[in-house]
Amino acid sequence: MADGTMSTSPPNTSDSQEPATAEQILEVYKRMPRISTSRFGRNKDKSPLYLQAVAALRAVADKERTSDLVFAEVYAPLWEVGFARAYGLTKTTKSACLRKLFGKRCGSAGHRYASKFPDSEGFPCHPPGCDHPSLWYKDGKPYAFVYHPYGLRTDEIIELGKLCERLDLNVEIDAVSWHYPGKTISVTLTHKLSRENDRSANA
Ligand SMILES: [Zn+2]
Repeated sequence: MADGTMSTSPPNTSDSQEPATAEQILEVYKRMPRISTSRFGRNKDKSPLYLQAVAALRAVADKERTSDLVFAEVYAPLWEVGFARAYGLTKTTKSACLRKLFGKRCGSAGHRYASKFPDSEGFPCHPPGCDHPSLWYKDGKPYAFVYHPYGLRTDEIIELGKLCERLDLNVEIDAVSWHYPGKTISVTLTHKLSRENDRSANA
């Protein structure tokens, strides 16, 4: 490498357990085919650490095709902790059930009231399209039901809208999803009233 004949391929990390040094990664990055990152302009003066991270992630993408897992591994705990801190919430370790947001008991250990078959009053255990759910508490009371599907279909979106209207729920869907960052979306259900109380308290 010292003779200036460095190849443009990523550091050869598969033959040994030694990771490339930061300097090696940076040199590789400089010689990589350029991919425009101008739309990520927030960090225009990219630091050496930033460039090393890009090069390392690119190397993993090229060699092992697991760069999405690397990203997810870093961001899953950061985003989950960030969500908890932003709203002052703690996650229940028990099975997540939407009914508990309304002070109702779960129908059974197996979530008897699925989204398609709610109880006679219309309270389901799980909302439409539910996958990877969790229930979050604030001041000892159920506050938010969050789930992380890989996507939502038309019928699920429509049913979710109807459910929110009927039960006076607020829904927010965004990409900051900590179940599998980069692959899933985050759907957060809260009572409209509790969110409004938050806003007035923060005003
Ligand atoms: Zn339930």
